[in-house]
Amino acid sequence: DVADLPGVPEWLPDHLRDDGIEELYPPQAEAVEAGVTEGENLVASIPTASGKTLIAELAMLSSVARGGKALYIVPLRALASEKQADFEEFEQYGLDIGVSTGNYESEGGWLADKDIVVATSEKVDSLVRNDAPWIEDLTCVVTDEVHLVDDGERGPTLEVTLAKLRRLNPDLQTVALSATIGNAEALATWLDAGLVDSDWRPIDLQKGVHYGQALHLEDGSQQRLSVQNNEKQTAAIVRDTLEDDGSTLVFVNSRRNAEAAAGRLANTVRPHLTDEERAQLANIAEEIRDVSDTETSDDLADAVAGGAAFHHAGLSRGHRELVEDAFRDRLVKVVCATPTLAAGVNTPSRRVVVRDWRRYDGSAGGMAPLSVLEVHQMMGRAGRPGLDPYGEAVLIASSHDEVDELFERYVWADPEPVRSKLAAEPALRTHILATVASGFARSRSGLLEFLEQTLYASQTDEGGQLERVVDDVLTYLQRNDFLEIDDGELDATSLGHTVSRLYLDPMSAAEIVDGLRDWERGASDSTSASGSPADTQAEPPADSGFTTASELAEDAHESDDDRDPDDISALGLYHLVSRTPDMYQLYLRSGDREEYEMELFEREQELLGPTPSEFEEGRFEDWLSALKTARLLEDWATEVDEATITERYGVGPGDIRGKVETAQWLLGAAESLASEVDLDAARAISEARIRVEHGVREELVDLAGVRGVGRKRARRLFQAGITDRAELRDAEKPVVLAALRGRRKTAENVLENAGHRDPSMEGVEPAADVSVDLDD
Ligand code: ADP
Repeated sequence: DVADLPGVPEWLPDHLRDDGIEELYPPQAEAVEAGVTEGENLVASIPTASGKTLIAELAMLSSVARGGKALYIVPLRALASEKQADFEEFEQYGLDIGVSTGNYESEGGWLADKDIVVATSEKVDSLVRNDAPWIEDLTCVVTDEVHLVDDGERGPTLEVTLAKLRRLNPDLQTVALSATIGNAEALATWLDAGLVDSDWRPIDLQKGVHYGQALHLEDGSQQRLSVQNNEKQTAAIVRDTLEDDGSTLVFVNSRRNAEAAAGRLANTVRPHLTDEERAQLANIAEEIRDVSDTETSDDLADAVAGGAAFHHAGLSRGHRELVEDAFRDRLVKVVCATPTLAAGVNTPSRRVVVRDWRRYDGSAGGMAPLSVLEVHQMMGRAGRPGLDPYGEAVLIASSHDEVDELFERYVWADPEPVRSKLAAEPALRTHILATVASGFARSRSGLLEFLEQTLYASQTDEGGQLERVVDDVLTYLQRNDFLEIDDGELDATSLGHTVSRLYLDPMSAAEIVDGLRDWERGASDSTSASGSPADTQAEPPADSGFTTASELAEDAHESDDDRDPDDISALGLYHLVSRTPDMYQLYLRSGDREEYEMELFEREQELLGPTPSEFEEGRFEDWLSALKTARLLEDWATEVDEATITERYGVGPGDIRGKVETAQWLLGAAESLASEVDLDAARAISEARIRVEHGVREELVDLAGVRGVGRKRARRLFQAGITDRAELRDAEKPVVLAALRGRRKTAENVLENAGHRDPSMEGVEPAADVSVDLDD
């Protein structure tokens, strides 16, 4: 009973009852018995939708009630806002909630007064690196989706960050929430924690496989589920669910497939909609079109009007929220999603269909099966407590043999054990530098001792492997002037400190510094490039795989003909940051290679650093992908409209945002690096950064910086003769109103933000002689 909880604030039982929670679910009760409200460490490995959030809340609220401060670590930014909204319910009881995700260089001083802080693991890592003083005040840390320590890219950050937080405060209560995994006890050992390992669910879940005209369920029963002429299996399941008044979540393996499936399934759903539903969906479709003016937006709106939607990481946040809300409100009857949705966003549905159980995997060179853990997480979204009598999760088989295969592979299988991915060079490169720079280790032996506190160390008997990689990484960091090593003592250089604070992969920093130096030397003349392999292979790669670009460049070029840093083009800078490991480059699709080779031929003089030889397949290919990415950024910064960019590069609007934000961050970092190593390129870099931030040409930089203006309105104002912020402040209202197409509210807003003394548009009529010829 919620009345009998030890250690929680006194208002909590009533609050929970108001939310319809009278009793704890069994795993929650186990967590309380294990002391989660009394400061004990805990690992809870329980199925999706079984009430993990409440366990986290119990831990954090009781810690805060004892005068402490709690941190909730989320794996995805999208989840941060969802959790923030959850926790903000506690503000009525005087608690302060803060959320921090972007902007990796600050120490977030404003978070010092918050009782509960929500942040991604990268953000927490950067706060530690920037010595945020309040980090030491933390008394409780909760990690959501801790099984992601298994993720090669992001897992190591979570692992090292937890180790650091626990080192800073040995009494820190650590609570880790996980999906059901094969080795939860290993996580508990690592974190010195009690363990709740349960497969209890609040609502029954039946797993099964569909084939032919039947749904084969795990209890051995079969349900007739017939596929009509020309109908796909997924459509048949969606139709069957609708006839029973339920909704379906369909997982597919790519964005394109999600969009295509949603378009088709709208045809299945449409006949089942009532007039009232149709009208409401039409309104939501309009809202979707209002979010952005792109093909993705149109496709989504069309699907939603028919009661179906797609959901993937290429959607903008506005789109995602509209889709999730409409699905929760049962207006949208089917959502086709890529697996990102399974990880967290709370969208349960009556049935889940896992249509694709293989997905393209670059490292496997083709299609590879999904992990059991992932498939079980998707399946766990089936069944809505209180709404559906039970949930069903269905895999799709295309042959009789596949029915058996899918039962073995997924339905009856246990999830894989989670394994640390820390002992890999890219991860250690970053984390070793940061660990030394922020004083967690001052010697090689101290470093190894610190790494002993990671999951990796607790999972391996073979210390030798870690030591070997550590030594390779130390050599690399020393050679690139990030670290000094003196008789086993480690010290970060000033450059090393900067890199760590900027949250850059040291390899990105080396690439940027080398590229800028190379430009200053006037080194990257095109004759040195693609033609002759000898130039770039001046030194064979060292055994460790770490050859610094500066070593190559120094050997290859000896021109002393300095170039003016102000002449560096935006494209050159976009290319420079696009080729660092911190930017996800765009892939080259078929036909792209020729196109970007031509582009390279034409614009090679603008690039910083020598082009790798075509004989170095991997590096040359990377160079071209970086060029494609840089061209996207350049298009954005020359006001090419969003729809054209999404089409030209085969990306969604959310991808453009992602690339733009990364470029902004990396260019900001490049500015700091340039000043750190006395390179005089700050002006060119800052201009390229501001242009990409606002998506405008040079002449609009000032105007677009006014809040509420943005790229399109800036261009219209400019066309109407208002060329900067000062002119906007003193502009004639009829002109402004005409340039903003008669939108009074917008015009008032913009004028106010520009500092106009009297922004009111009452009685003002748009000037007749102002014409602007841009689409809205
Ligand atoms: P998870 O994080 O494990 O995926 P959630 O914490 O989001 O799952 O919980 C799923 C739903 O169950 C939420 O809507 C939550 O309000 C509800 N819930 C949690 N605990 C209880 C409980 N003890 N009694 C009733 N409902 C609960």
